[in-house]
Amino acid sequence: MDTFTSNDEPKMKKDYDKKVFVNRNLTLESIKCYGFDMDYTLAMYKSPDYESMGFELIRDRMVSVGYPHEILRYTYDPSFPTRGIVVDTTYGNLLKVDSNGNILVCSHGFLFLKQNDIYFYYPNKFIQRDDTERFYILNTLFNLSETYLYACLVDFFTRCTRYSNLDEGFQHGDLFMSYRSMFQDVRKAMDFVHDKGILKDQTIKNLEKYVIKDPGIPVLLTRIKEVAKVFLATNSDYNYTEVIMKYLLEGYTQAGYPRKTWRSFFDLVVVDTRKPLFFADGTVLRQVDTNTGKLRIGTYTGDLQHGTVYSGGSSDIICDLLDVRGKDILYVGDHIFGDILKSKKRQGWKTFLVVPELTKELQVWEEKRAVFEELKRLDVFLAELYKHLDSGSKECPDISAIKTRMTVLTYRMDICYGQMGSLLRSGYTQTLFASQLIRYADLYSSTCINLLQYPFNYLFMAPPVLMPHEAASQNSAEVASSEQNSHGVVTNRN
Ligand SMILES: [Mg+2]
Repeated sequence: MDTFTSNDEPKMKKDYDKKVFVNRNLTLESIKCYGFDMDYTLAMYKSPDYESMGFELIRDRMVSVGYPHEILRYTYDPSFPTRGIVVDTTYGNLLKVDSNGNILVCSHGFLFLKQNDIYFYYPNKFIQRDDTERFYILNTLFNLSETYLYACLVDFFTRCTRYSNLDEGFQHGDLFMSYRSMFQDVRKAMDFVHDKGILKDQTIKNLEKYVIKDPGIPVLLTRIKEVAKVFLATNSDYNYTEVIMKYLLEGYTQAGYPRKTWRSFFDLVVVDTRKPLFFADGTVLRQVDTNTGKLRIGTYTGDLQHGTVYSGGSSDIICDLLDVRGKDILYVGDHIFGDILKSKKRQGWKTFLVVPELTKELQVWEEKRAVFEELKRLDVFLAELYKHLDSGSKECPDISAIKTRMTVLTYRMDICYGQMGSLLRSGYTQTLFASQLIRYADLYSSTCINLLQYPFNYLFMAPPVLMPHEAASQNSAEVASSEQNSHGVVTNRN
């Protein structure tokens, strides 16, 4: 579908980064309840310091379970990983794909493969990404550090002369180490630093270094609570949630910031939600003893009590407790799968995706507009070459120079976003992440604080997107009308 007609292009304003973008019309007035995720949504972690800390923790863990000490030499490079990358655990490659699984970019360690090398691994330049045994999508911002660590490991073992390179891993004496086992070890190390609370401890010890304390958060939550219900649903445990939310919401002494506890900003707080399970069967709902942080035994069956913190449960239970229906809820989260896709698909909630990368994406889009314009012109030029041919034509236009130029321009644009390119596109093609964002997020923005820019009765209007046949018909109608206006008669184009 054509969304790039030059007439439709909005003028880039300085405050574009403060906007909320719309995939589907949404009337804020009809929202009776706002739900928020915590990590990377209300609690915005400072990039790249936070990912760098995560990288070092899992790197050190890998060494402590037996990986060579040499990998300690690697330090986190924020310019390498992009979210939404797919790991091929069979060949150890990192892949950027479109919504159908066609490969856009492929790297092996830090080596970016050329077209012919990609065909060597993937004869169809395509992956069957439903094969979740083999392909793993690194969907969250927490995954950035493990994406980079995996590339470091592949890089190290490929270069290390002690190991010989085989198709599916490395051989060292009588020891075979597969790409698959290496990836499993990285995942295990990541789970280890999460589950043992190591990452959380480091964060809590250095809150100012790792967490953005934005005064807009308490203002936003206060204003929302005046017009609707508000809940927090986080996969984090109570003790961590308490420290983070206290830091974000309490301790403001200026005028205009009411002194109240972080819990009183919400009608309902649920921790340990285990999203995406939360949006399906969920788990047992328990009360949290806020004095000790421990769970009360038994399932909670009573009515909603203000100031009470719950653990587990499901989205259905939350709707019952708050007395709201799915379509009355706007849920704000950063996880395209666990927060957005599941809440939309399973429960019909309205969704708001937080995309922190959008700030950089908008900046590059503005700076590199000329490159994209040239790509567009080349596309039109290509089409012109074929325009007067039909099924009887024998001539074959030479398009190799144009194709090469388009590859160069695509690469030149991609590299401005980072080594793996943009989160959302590669040249003309949108990524899997972009297609999911369009399909499942009603609204999206770089931060939820941007909701402050809109009144609570606002109508978010989606830009009209025409299907190709509608766009073609509309374009010819516009040409006809403009020619009629300039000449006073309709020109016969035949
Ligand atoms: Mg999150």
